[in-house]
Amino acid sequence: MKESFLTASEYYKKIFGCKVYKISLDAGCTCPTRDGTKGFGGCIFCSSSGSGDFTASRKLSINEQVEQAKKLVENKLNKNRDFLYIAYFQNFTNTYGDENELLEKFTQAINQNEIVGLSIATRPDCLSDKMISSISKLKPKNYPANKEFYISIELGFQTSKESSANFIRRGYENSIYTDAVARLHKIAPEIHVVTHLIFGLPEESFEDMINSVNFVLKSQTDGIKFTVLHVLENTDLAILWKEGKFQTMSQDEYFEVLKSALQHINEFYLKTKKQIVVHRFTGDGAKKILLSPMWTANKKKVLNDIKKYILQN
Ligand code: SF4
Repeated sequence: MKESFLTASEYYKKIFGCKVYKISLDAGCTCPTRDGTKGFGGCIFCSSSGSGDFTASRKLSINEQVEQAKKLVENKLNKNRDFLYIAYFQNFTNTYGDENELLEKFTQAINQNEIVGLSIATRPDCLSDKMISSISKLKPKNYPANKEFYISIELGFQTSKESSANFIRRGYENSIYTDAVARLHKIAPEIHVVTHLIFGLPEESFEDMINSVNFVLKSQTDGIKFTVLHVLENTDLAILWKEGKFQTMSQDEYFEVLKSALQHINEFYLKTKKQIVVHRFTGDGAKKILLSPMWTANKKKVLNDIKKYILQN
């Protein structure tokens, strides 16, 4: 099964020949479901930091954020090893705002040393054709012509079950997502499209979750980021969880769905020969605000268990 997909580190190694770290940056955006354009409060599970609890402060300039984020990574690393960076605009909706100002911030980030790629997290309903085209043309100054500059767009989709999408206040229909993926491939085929999915949303069956996987595969996503639903303090989801309205998934339940999801990726590969990149096998909520499921707090153990019980089987 394993040859049917690449992990993020395998994928980056294939492109850059070495380890690549993503450094999380903040472009100072908000979301249309937060500022009143489509609603208030944002997605029901999202923390006040807009899904960017590990991101540098927006009070800093982009250059300062890059420097600070690089230092954090370098403190944890074996400095004798070769590694490079991808500038990752992670929290909130990073194509929602003044497009020229945002492009300027992306440009500042990619012009820092050792940056070989740009990842932009956004919503499919906030992605104009013009913005796709402008992003696809970004490249650092004096970048070698024969060297690849990697660009990815990450789309927060979470589920293909429309009633769940309404429940989480996603604020757009599935067709908006399929249209955005099609436009990305048409306007800028070199942009790598990653889709975020959440398993364990209230009222979702095993079948619903697998339907979401098949939906994004059929829509021609290039990569997927999986996560289990986290309940974080000070979110509307936390109120429902504290009232006992739903339970989060156990590790066994999550692993069962994840294993099936990877089997569906395998079937997709056998039919199409398209190798999907699994950028994340599960996420981890910031420990200081994580209410449930607590098994996700030990990220190292969870990733080891995924290797042991899913990837090596
Ligand atoms: S679109 Fe993303 S950042 Fe914005 S509220 Fe929803 S999950 Fe949070």
